Amino acid sequence: MEHKDISEADPEVYKALKNEVERQESESLEMIASENFVPKQILQAQGSVLTNKYAEGLPGKRYYAGCEHHDKIENLARERACEIFNADHANVQPHSGSQANFAAYFSQLDAGDKILGPVLSHGGHLTHGHGVNFSGDLFDFETYGINQETERFEKEDVMKAAKEHNPDLIVCGYSAYPREIDFEMFREVADEVDALLMCDIAHISGLVAAGEHPSPFPECDIVTTTTHKSIRGARGGMILCKREYADEVDSAVFPYSQGGPLMHQIAGKAVCFKEAMKPEFKDYAAQIKKNTKALAEGLREKGLQMVSGGTDNHLVLVDLTDEETTGKEAEEALEEAGIVVNKNAVPYDPEPPMVTSGIRIGTPALTTRGMEEEELKEIGKMIGEVVKNPESEDIRSEVEDRVSELLAEFPLYEDSDVEF
Ligand SMILES: *Cc1c(COP(=O)(O)O)cnc(C)c1O
Repeated sequence: MEHKDISEADPEVYKALKNEVERQESESLEMIASENFVPKQILQAQGSVLTNKYAEGLPGKRYYAGCEHHDKIENLARERACEIFNADHANVQPHSGSQANFAAYFSQLDAGDKILGPVLSHGGHLTHGHGVNFSGDLFDFETYGINQETERFEKEDVMKAAKEHNPDLIVCGYSAYPREIDFEMFREVADEVDALLMCDIAHISGLVAAGEHPSPFPECDIVTTTTHKSIRGARGGMILCKREYADEVDSAVFPYSQGGPLMHQIAGKAVCFKEAMKPEFKDYAAQIKKNTKALAEGLREKGLQMVSGGTDNHLVLVDLTDEETTGKEAEEALEEAGIVVNKNAVPYDPEPPMVTSGIRIGTPALTTRGMEEEELKEIGKMIGEVVKNPESEDIRSEVEDRVSELLAEFPLYEDSDVEF
């Protein structure tokens, strides 16, 4: 086998990789709420020889020989995950958050069983019952919605939906909800209708790990997450659960829904969990929340409204129903100014999903770059200016100049020897 530098072996891929480094480093402010930047130690784990091995099964119970070191790594990931999240059991093999949800549902339910989840345009994920996804296709999904007065999930609404539909399982945890999740409330509802309670903490797992959001345990039975959003680790998924569900969860991952685990990704998860246990990570998570509040202040100063009036976590959902600008127009204007966000439906949105009346803005990635309240407040004001004047090229180019300065002031990989 001939080893070559990738620049020589595959110049086309190499060039695109180089360009992507450049894009992340110095082309735009990354404010997609689900994105983050991982440190070098995680890139190293992911780019390792662990990719060469089949390790079907679990540590100590593999279907292939030669898994000694893989066992060590997977056990470290599992033990750290249990410690961080106060869980009895962890399965770190799901390839993604969606795979984790697939396995979590099937660990307890059969196709056709009833699940109660959030209305999708009220913050849910595709895997919470959307018709184009396996979840909506294979399960009988019913929904609870955001309260129109408070713009939060309220007990009366969830209870009403639960009593009406009598689900086997209730899902909480969202992709676009700016407030804390009240796990005790969901437990009360689940007990009332004798349902299992699952929480999908894909977005907030970094905050939960740092104690900056209440823990879903002991209230929830099963908890799923991604490992690449606010927790800032290798791209992938994970399931945490109480002891009594451990065997069913494990077999729902393998052999039911996956084959060999991606051991290089699991090593990246292990390193991520070690990072998440450090005091520096607690500071990081606390800073995310401070930064999001500062962002909200900046937006508010420019007269923009937010769903539920503000934020408790890492994101805000700007409500543009009273503005001239749609979510789609705002996303496009901001992208031109160098600020990357995504259009997002707001609850009871009058616009169709490809247009929407909202934008979702998150701070985990910029907080990783080292920005603090002062910068986020300023960015909030810049976003307000652009959104209120989407046609103004002058405003866009002024913002673009300031964005370039901020990117240079808060370098990402520039000072490290990370190449990709
Ligand atoms: C991102 C997300 C997922 C899916 O994660 P993937 O790794 O993209 O499959 C699942 N649930 C929620 C709430 C999410 O935000």
